[in-house]
Amino acid sequence: MMLSCKETTVMISQSLDRKLTLHERINVKLHLLICDACRKMVKQMKLIRVLSQRYYTTKDSGTELQHLSEAATTRIRERLDRELREHSGKDDS
Ligand SMILES: [Zn+2]
Repeated sequence: MMLSCKETTVMISQSLDRKLTLHERINVKLHLLICDACRKMVKQMKLIRVLSQRYYTTKDSGTELQHLSEAATTRIRERLDRELREHSGKDDS
């Protein structure tokens, strides 16, 4: 059975916090093969992850870098939120 975009989104965000089962990983991979929107979303999620980690690790070293990271993370997070809403809205019908 193929996952919906919504289910894929949930699973991908969970995959950042826990290890997915083999079954879940396969389902996500299958969905990503056919869904361009979710593929883009994965990239953005990973980017946010990297940026937030960089923000926290560089917190004490250099205010300029801290400021830049924070702004970039916020911008990307807002964009991702918007895309997620649009994307999962479409999926509800
Ligand atoms: Zn999708």
